[in-house]
Amino acid sequence: MRVLKVVEGTSVDGPKLRTSIYLAGCSHACPGCHNPQSWDPAGGEEMSEDELMRVIAYNEAPVTFSGGDPLFQAGAVASLAARIKRELGYNIWCYTGYTWEHIVQQPQLMELMKSIDVLVDGPFVMAERDLDILFRGSRNQRLINVPETMKHGQVVLFEPQVKI
Ligand code: SF4
Repeated sequence: MRVLKVVEGTSVDGPKLRTSIYLAGCSHACPGCHNPQSWDPAGGEEMSEDELMRVIAYNEAPVTFSGGDPLFQAGAVASLAARIKRELGYNIWCYTGYTWEHIVQQPQLMELMKSIDVLVDGPFVMAERDLDILFRGSRNQRLINVPETMKHGQVVLFEPQVKI
């Protein structure tokens, strides 16, 4: 898959120190996007699932997929996420510019959601920008507890103070 960068031991993309994997490609074109150079799907470098697994296992830390938008490489990210869960059992967060309501209508995106613990959904909206909310850029974005949301068939929010 095309990877912009891997940041080891970051605390800005979810609770605890995490391994964040920034994936290339995004077409949401949110006005005010902090990282438009991430939009090119051919950007970054090619990294195999095995290479990423080695980095993730070495760090012994929960994982976050960001970008760009990881859902633009949903098939490859789903395979990697399932392997992280199966072999390492780590907590996984995923950022996307899509809303949950869009994702549930796309089977290939739902395949990835099976391995995600928390989804930060929705585009960045400049008018909703807020520097005081945890792990998000704008107030329209939600921290979604994916397993509970799938279980109940309606959005259940993740409460950041809950120990994971
Ligand atoms: S989804 Fe994220 S990376 Fe894509 S345009 Fe919006 S803010 Fe930028």
